[in-house]
Amino acid sequence: MSKKRVLIIGAGGVGRVVAHKCAQAHETFSHVTLASRTKSKCDAIAADVKKSTGIQIDTAAIDADDSKATAALIRSSKSDLVINVALPYQDLTIMDACLDAGVNYIDTANYEPLDDAKFEYKWQWAYREKFEKAGLMALLGSGFDPGQTNIYCAHALKHHFDQIDTVDIVDCNAGSNGLPFATNFNPEINIREVTANGRFFRDGQFHETKPMAISTDYDFPGVGVKKMFLLYHEELESLSQNIPGVKQMRFWMTFSQNYLTHLEVLQNVGMTSIKPIIYEGREIVPLQFLKAVLPDPGALGAKTVGKTSIGCVFTGKKDGKTKHYFIYNICDHEECNEETGAQGVSYTTGVPAMLGAKLVAEGTWLKPGVWNIEQLDPDPFMKEIGKWGLPWEDKVLTENVLAAVEH
Ligand code: NDP
Repeated sequence: MSKKRVLIIGAGGVGRVVAHKCAQAHETFSHVTLASRTKSKCDAIAADVKKSTGIQIDTAAIDADDSKATAALIRSSKSDLVINVALPYQDLTIMDACLDAGVNYIDTANYEPLDDAKFEYKWQWAYREKFEKAGLMALLGSGFDPGQTNIYCAHALKHHFDQIDTVDIVDCNAGSNGLPFATNFNPEINIREVTANGRFFRDGQFHETKPMAISTDYDFPGVGVKKMFLLYHEELESLSQNIPGVKQMRFWMTFSQNYLTHLEVLQNVGMTSIKPIIYEGREIVPLQFLKAVLPDPGALGAKTVGKTSIGCVFTGKKDGKTKHYFIYNICDHEECNEETGAQGVSYTTGVPAMLGAKLVAEGTWLKPGVWNIEQLDPDPFMKEIGKWGLPWEDKVLTENVLAAVEH
């Protein structure tokens, strides 16, 4: 295999981890370029990467909303593939740029229009034919959730079940940063996600709930009992199509009471709105203004202690018998910071982004078209991911306690 040149777009918390990991994977990536709107952020990350790996990466300024400029950067950096860890708003312009420049595409979050808090895969799935015809690949959702949890589903389907009936994705960040209110990934995207209505899949269709209306306690490995809330998350859309015959799929995430209280106040005073308002003669979007005053998630690395614990709980049939199965990863915020200068949420997203790109670059996963990550063979990912920092553990359960949670 010839080594490949990779372009990473987005120098936030996740971009920092991807840059470190691509530099570490120098047997696959001969050259790394990191580009973002603000070049100084790329330079700071490049200096850290050099210090910890000895590898020099290039940096560039780019506005990825500009597809032509992005294609020009792909060409001038001679990149073979692009890892998009900017914001979901840039997905389509970066996919256009990849088609224009003739390179493969990897991301971690699906497209969302700026003026409508509505994430769906339909916009990116509409590129299937274009990528197929060009002989290029777009790999969607190569983060943790979506990402590693989708691979857990593919692994469960391949190795543990003849039929999966229910899936509960359980996501706990038990980290603490000592700040009164901070989100652990981009605040704008995070708040758009948690203030939206909840939704779950059951019997062939999605059912809607009020935001945060359904909750239950769950005993997370490595962390203990936490209250988690039912949210809609983008992977439910692709997984409900890619796990044949699945009857129910839900996504749960933990939030502290402190986080929820702050969020409620911000919502009550209108600060989470995405409708533009006129402030002193100028149009501003309240949520974007709020993002500007909240802590930068990329700067929380040194402040965050504790663990993340994220996994999938399955019920289904194997050899005619009912089976319950749990697979998960536990990740320590301080260890992530020590290695990459980022907290665990950026780390758990950035490591699968690099590994997805690596498996595409090496040809293992490479196939033309637009693919959600669970459509690829889980085995090479499951074999390698531990070595890159996110080892998985699993157990067959005697019962699925979440099966009893009714709503
Ligand atoms: P940050 O806000 O920390 O970083 C985003 C970066 O994108 C910023 O550095 C910003 O640039 C850059 N950016 C924004 N707009 C543009 C643009 N037009 N052109 C070029 N660069 C741009 O976010 P995170 O690092 O926390 O998250 C990155 C992505 O990862 C998001 O899409 C998020 O949804 C996704 N994610 C996925 C998860 C998963 O498990 N699948 C979990 C967590 C996050 P600058 O600062 O230079 O202005």
